[in-house]
Amino acid sequence: MLDINAIRQDFPILSKTVYNKPLIYLDNGATTQKPRCVVEKIEHGYYNENANIHRGVHFLSQAATEAHEEARKTVQNFLNARSSNEIIFTRGTTESINLIASSFCDECVSEGDEVIVSVMEHHSNIVPWQIQAAKKGISLKVIPMNEIGELDIEAYKSLFSEKTRLVSVAHVSNVLGTVNPVKEIIEIAHEHNVPVLVDGAQSVPHIPVDVQDLDAEFYVFSGHKIYGPTGIGVLYGKEEWLDKLPPYQGGGEMIATVSFEKTTFNELPFKFEAGTPDYIGSTALAEALRYVNNIGMKEIEAYEHELLRYATEKLSAIEGMRIFGQAREKSGVLSFLVGNIHHYDMGMLLDRLGIAVRTGHHCAQPLMQALGIEGTVRASFSFYNTKEEIDVLAAGIERVRKMF
Ligand code: PMP
Repeated sequence: MLDINAIRQDFPILSKTVYNKPLIYLDNGATTQKPRCVVEKIEHGYYNENANIHRGVHFLSQAATEAHEEARKTVQNFLNARSSNEIIFTRGTTESINLIASSFCDECVSEGDEVIVSVMEHHSNIVPWQIQAAKKGISLKVIPMNEIGELDIEAYKSLFSEKTRLVSVAHVSNVLGTVNPVKEIIEIAHEHNVPVLVDGAQSVPHIPVDVQDLDAEFYVFSGHKIYGPTGIGVLYGKEEWLDKLPPYQGGGEMIATVSFEKTTFNELPFKFEAGTPDYIGSTALAEALRYVNNIGMKEIEAYEHELLRYATEKLSAIEGMRIFGQAREKSGVLSFLVGNIHHYDMGMLLDRLGIAVRTGHHCAQPLMQALGIEGTVRASFSFYNTKEEIDVLAAGIERVRKMF
């Protein structure tokens, strides 16, 4: 059992009031709040270990370098990667996917080739492939879903052809909360010798992830969604794949030698980290990972699952409630509409009650088109949320419903 009251004390922002109401923060899918230890780690870094890394002979530079590389090992252990060379620090999920889209398509695709994505992808797992499609003449194949928001695996199997080069899918949908069967998706891709990228933006903060067990070639996530700072994220890639892909950006850190005649690239992981990395962000992200590990990812998953079950039950009882995404395997995301009330109106009025939810298309317009709607209201949960907060949410929705 988690001691939620004690956990909430670690997050000063949760004690805030907005419009004289206690803040109820249910927009964790967009970003999570930060525990004190993460903010203190940033302060500690700038006050005590700030110097550019990898280049300095001096004490501070070595301390900063060690802290950054230690953070890489923490991420490695968190994902159960085989080697810390397989952990690349990026700015976030979006940059990680763009990196792979660019480097993979430079090396491994030619005109007429195909990349498989799913209908429930975030724009950041669609647009980078479309940019490459326009450059390289490749096309996207889309895995459809059923009416409860589960990917159609039989349809997925039928999308493979001689020209399939990569599969890129979300582990958890940021709109529907569906936990996709990525292990099975990866197995099927591997039967066709096709590598897989998994967008873990909404999974890593909420369910235990073991990249070796999943056997994904690439797995990506954002620091800010797992209680870490903004501006830092991770690309995990199997070493043999990262080795064979060309660099994404050029600059300092990523080179071995440079001359005007010929430049050679650095070894992994530095080949993919051009320029001064966010070495303060990496150590703060590592602190966030230690924080959630101390609580326990299994415990977090179980608690958030119970919150989701409770919220689904409570909200389902509201007249006119439509919940989008009723997959058998779901993570803590509830997207809904009530009667004819516009999602934006619902979000604005809930905000006045101190309840922070997301409204709109959630950067998943193709999914909205598949659902035949413009947007939803989305409540997304964290382990610091409580059933009492869900009661206030349900009462708030009921109040708004009656106003219309
Ligand atoms: N993929 C999914 C599934 C997401 O939910 C998000 C963030 N909403 C992203 C990618 C993009 O993450 P970021 O903006 O941190 O790069």
